Amino acid sequence: MDVTPYFASLIDLDDPLCPVRRQVIPLGRELQAFEGMMEDSLAEDAHSPVPGLVHRYPDRVLMLITTQCASYCRYCTRSRIVGSSHENFNKTDFEAQLDYLRRTPQVRDVLISGGDPLTLAPKTLDTILSGLRAIEHIEIIRIGSRVPVFLPQRITDEFCAMLRQYHPLWMNIHTNHPKEITPELSHALAKLADAGIPLGNQSVLLAGINDSVNIQRELVHKLVCNRVRPYYLYQCDLVKGAGHFRTTVAKGIEIIEGLRGHTSGYAVPTYVVDAPGGGGKIPVMPQYLISQAPGKVVLRNYEGYITTYEEPTDYDPGMVEHLDRQVTRRPEPGQSGVAGLLAGEALAIKPQGFDALHKRGGTTHRLNVDATKWQPYHADKSPDVNHSNGHAPSVKVNGTNKHNGSKPDKSSI
Ligand code: SF4
Repeated sequence: MDVTPYFASLIDLDDPLCPVRRQVIPLGRELQAFEGMMEDSLAEDAHSPVPGLVHRYPDRVLMLITTQCASYCRYCTRSRIVGSSHENFNKTDFEAQLDYLRRTPQVRDVLISGGDPLTLAPKTLDTILSGLRAIEHIEIIRIGSRVPVFLPQRITDEFCAMLRQYHPLWMNIHTNHPKEITPELSHALAKLADAGIPLGNQSVLLAGINDSVNIQRELVHKLVCNRVRPYYLYQCDLVKGAGHFRTTVAKGIEIIEGLRGHTSGYAVPTYVVDAPGGGGKIPVMPQYLISQAPGKVVLRNYEGYITTYEEPTDYDPGMVEHLDRQVTRRPEPGQSGVAGLLAGEALAIKPQGFDALHKRGGTTHRLNVDATKWQPYHADKSPDVNHSNGHAPSVKVNGTNKHNGSKPDKSSI
């Protein structure tokens, strides 16, 4: 346990349920095991090609550069390493991380986190940032930090001057309750925003702390007044020690229901469940699309007003093709997912072992030997369906996808 004197000063000593206190002061309930609990619930270490670098998504990485924080949150997702000096990252790790990035041109966005990167000596952070900026394909650098919240005094003019050398640089802070938005934090945020750093906030939905529409509304209003865009509201992870902080997912949906339409759109965060096992962030929200039929969708708004939207009958999605072809492709080998299905890259996404299971231990025989019979034809290259000799059609799948120019040569992703 570690709490900065500043953050400790925000604790209401007369209130055992104070939301500031509950984030950083342990309770015996932390020791209670719960169903589904894991040490590394997001499987970050399983998606880590070099120590501290998590490459989960196609074009971006998470770069962990320290295990130290200004104060320690009791629900921390990375409690397996955070706070431990034995697990800390060093120069050799930074070099291995940078080396991986240099040879991985698909990465355009690096999120530096930890622990808290802003607890590092400014010179060390400066060196890491300049190492990243020297990599041509890195377009965006993001920093995730709770230092402005735990130790706003750390955000000095000199520090901001160092950061602003590395634009485009974004920063996400982490506040959970309006009590954390103090004049000191506002002052620090103003310095960061004046240094041209776009600011976002991520919160964790925490039982007994911020699991209320009214608390969340006050929090997001205070954030936008400080030029901070509420970015994510996380469902609490299935992490060891955090069981008593967890809410139902229904509570998160209720909160978004209470925000969307009831306040400015840019004040509404995306509520996400970070998929246990390493599936990444999955946005969850109330259902606004009520029904649909060809040419028409039925939608409802936040007030319960139910309306219809007439879809165009003459919409031509191919009209943009000549412009689309002029845009650089960003291949996502093996990760194009459902978007890949829509783009015609594959017909299906199959669970692991699907083909073997459905072979039922059988042999290859005359009816199943030709795999092309399960691949779709294109209308303009369809075979003569009336072939009379009983032989397989001669036209094979070889079409070009109408929308992305790719060859749909795989039957599944
Ligand atoms: S500041 Fe972030 S990394 Fe540090 S303990 Fe809190 S949640 Fe974990």
